[in-house]
Order: sequence, then structure tokens, then C-alpha cells
Amino acid sequence: MKKGKTKIVATLGPATSSYETIKKLINAGTSMFRLNTSHGTADDHLGYLENIRKASSDAGCYIPVMVDLQGPKIRVGNLPDSVKIKKGQTVILQHGEYEKESDIIPVDYAGIAEDVKSGDKILLDDGKVGLRVTSVSDNIVYTEVIYGDEIRPRKGINLPGATASLDAVTDRDKNFIEFAVKNKVDYIAQSFVREARDVIYAKACIKMAGGDIPIIAKIEKPQAVQNLDEIIDEADGIMVARGDLGIEMSPAEVPIIQKEIIAKTIKQRKVCIVATQMLESMIEKPIPTRAEASDIANAIMDGTDAVMLSGETAMGKYPVEAVTMMREIADNTEKCEFCLSNLNLDINEHYELSPQAIANAAVKMAQDLHAKAILAFSHTGYTPRLLAKLRPSVPVIAISDQEKTCRKLNLYWGITPSHKEWDTVLDTNILKEIDKYIFENTSFKKDERIIIIGSIPKLITGRTNFIRVHRIGAENEQNKKCG
Ligand code: PGA
Ligand code: MN
Repeated sequence: MKKGKTKIVATLGPATSSYETIKKLINAGTSMFRLNTSHGTADDHLGYLENIRKASSDAGCYIPVMVDLQGPKIRVGNLPDSVKIKKGQTVILQHGEYEKESDIIPVDYAGIAEDVKSGDKILLDDGKVGLRVTSVSDNIVYTEVIYGDEIRPRKGINLPGATASLDAVTDRDKNFIEFAVKNKVDYIAQSFVREARDVIYAKACIKMAGGDIPIIAKIEKPQAVQNLDEIIDEADGIMVARGDLGIEMSPAEVPIIQKEIIAKTIKQRKVCIVATQMLESMIEKPIPTRAEASDIANAIMDGTDAVMLSGETAMGKYPVEAVTMMREIADNTEKCEFCLSNLNLDINEHYELSPQAIANAAVKMAQDLHAKAILAFSHTGYTPRLLAKLRPSVPVIAISDQEKTCRKLNLYWGITPSHKEWDTVLDTNILKEIDKYIFENTSFKKDERIIIIGSIPKLITGRTNFIRVHRIGAENEQNKKCG
């Protein structure tokens, strides 16, 4: 199975939901699966989830699952046919059902007339149609077409900067939160977050459903870019959701915003995913464009933990090839030390100093002593998460007694999780057991060095407070000499 430091998120869809295909996607290097609840029913997603669980357990790895909530997405109502519109024409929008013989385009959002004002832009079908509001009266929105195309039923509508009266978590989202809690998924992605309050509300919904699932806030609205610091503070991770971001703002602004979002997320020690159109051409073709290869490499150089595939794996013709190609590009980028050396790895000062100091020391020691790996014992995953953000040159093996911690950690850069009940006192016997574990599970050899971090007296409880340079096999040698 292919594993790399940069993690790969693959979105599942009808074309890739079978056990066999999921297994192939894992073998090609998928680190996490995304279930996109904008499409499909809870039953469809339950089927996907069962196949993922079985395939990852058969492959012997910890693959997390992220349920992506549709969020406050506005759509065109049920038009009987598509409607052609041309530049300069007037288009009228109103909340409600389609009425026969009427030239009003129905919209499924009751607040549309309240949320827009004269001069605002309205974008339809991923920005293919652009409208400018000319006036609003009696709950009817009058617009002029800036650029036209066909308007088809149920297509998405973006109101850049103006969805204030929409609930951050819709009823559909609440049902999928219940689904996520009931089925113990690992992450929830929240779409169209506007401010920190939206994340706090989603957290409350998760808590009400009886769960405690980390939230990845998707940055895809101009308001979210404005409120970025507070959103990162509240969320557990961030997704640079370039699809909608490039519609609500200009595609020209996305590359720089991506860099800003990633830098701020690293600073807060949260996990980061860069998403959308990374290998778009591979939906149809078996090889990517050079620009796409560059885009993936650049996102990694910006410092993201993970890169994501959407349509490429959900409905494309070459899903396994797309993951394989992404893995190959990531592997090549990671090999280039210069490429990762420009990252600013400063941390926000309010972080606990002691685990941070140990993480810093472990990374430095691994480098100075040419150690092969860092072995980090962790109950909650806190210290491995700090380690991931330091971009260590050696692999980090995170050993946890919690399978759910193992799954969550698999999304973090450079972390290989491993599950083991090692809740014991640190003594010579445990060092021998560690050696046995290393010989059985890694390709490291006798006399090579690894750095071990954890906490004493108990190995996997409490805060990390311990660091040891360990020569593989040394304990057995010493015992022989004494005996
Ligand atoms: P989506 O989110 O694929 O759920 O729309 C990602 C994006 O907008 O880029
Ligand atoms: Mn989106």
C-alpha cells in the first residue's frame, strides 16, 4: 500500500462506492474518504461507510471518514425545462414554486429578497450565469444578465457576501449530523461558514446529537475570508474550498487567499485540506495537465496537510489513476527539501509550552542524530498533531490506545498511526517490547536510532513530558551482558 507524508482525501460517489474500488483507492494512497451529503441519501452514505470500514480494516490501516454537510446552499427551484437567457436581458427571481406560464425563476430560499440589494451580484450554476440586481420590491428580485447561458432546474445559486438570514446548519444537515454521530464518523466538514458563530452553532448541534466530532470549516465565502482568524480559532481544521470560493470571489484571488489560509491554519496548529479541481482534467483523461501537477505541488509547498479529490474520484473515468497520480506528485514534492524549507512554522504563543518544546526537541534530535523515526505515544493525538506541523524529516509513528485517535491522526502530514494498548509503566521490559514492535512493523534495523516521546510514569496518559534517544536492540544486549 502506498503511503506518503502528504495526505490524500478522496470523495466517494456512485462510481467508486464498491468494496473493490474502495480497496483500490486505499492501495493507491487514499488517506481519508469524504462523503458529500449534497448528493445521495443517508442510506447511500451508510452503504459507502460500511464498505470503507471493511476495506480499511482488511487493508490493516486507519482510514478516517469525513461527512461533508451541504450547508446553506441556495438552489433554483423545479423549473419544467431549462431556460435560455442572454446578456442584457431582465431575469426575475422569487422564492416559491414554479408557476405555469410565468417568466419568474423560482428559488428555494425564502430570504432571497431580504438578503440582496440593488447592485449585488447573483451567480447561477457554478458561476456560468451572472446576474446583477437592479431592484427589489414585494419579495421579487429584478436582475440584469451580465453573462448568460442556460438555467436548469435545481442548479446552485451563489450570493457572494449576502446570505445573512440563512441558517448555518439546515434541517438536512442536522439529519446528517445525527447520521455522523450514530455511525461514529471521524470528521464533519461544514460548508459556507461565514463567521465563528456558525462553527459554534454546528458544534452545539453535534453535541445535541450526542457526539463530539471535530469540525473542518470550509472557507468558501468572502465573509469567511474576512473572519478567518476567529473561524480557525473555533474550528478543528480548515478546508480551502476553492470551488465556491472562486465563484463567490474571483478565481484570480484564490491562489493568494489559499496561501494566507494555510499559513494561518499552521500557526494555530490545526489541520488543513486544499480542495477542488486539483486533477479536474482526469475526470475525462488518464493523465493530468502540467498546470494541475504544479497546483498540487504548490499546495504542498504552501504547507497543507492534505490535498483533496472531488469529481475525479466521485464520478470520473479514472478514479484510481487520479489517486495514484496525486500520490506520485506529492512524493516527488516531499523529496525536495528546498521546497518545504521556506515554511513558517511559528506557533501562536498561547499554546502549552511543554508539549511544544518536546515536539521541537524531538524533531531537532531526529535530525542531529540521524534517527530513523519519531515514535510518539499519545492518547488524544495532541503531541503528534504538534509534530505534524513541524514537518519532521523522518516518519512519525503515533501509537495510541484509541482507534478513533489513530483514524483522526491519519489526516495529519507525516503521521503514521498505529494502535496498541501500551498503558503501562516505562521500564526495561517496555523498551524490549518497543524493539519487538519495531522489528515486526517497520524496516528499521538493529543499532539504528529512533526518538521516543511520551509521558511517564504511564506511557500513554497525561501530557507528553518525556523524550528518549533509543538505539534499537540495545536493551537486549545489555541484559545479556549483565546475565
Ligand atoms: P464542495 O466544496 O465540493 O462541497 O462544493 C468544495 C469547494 O467548494 O471547493
Ligand atoms: Mn463548496
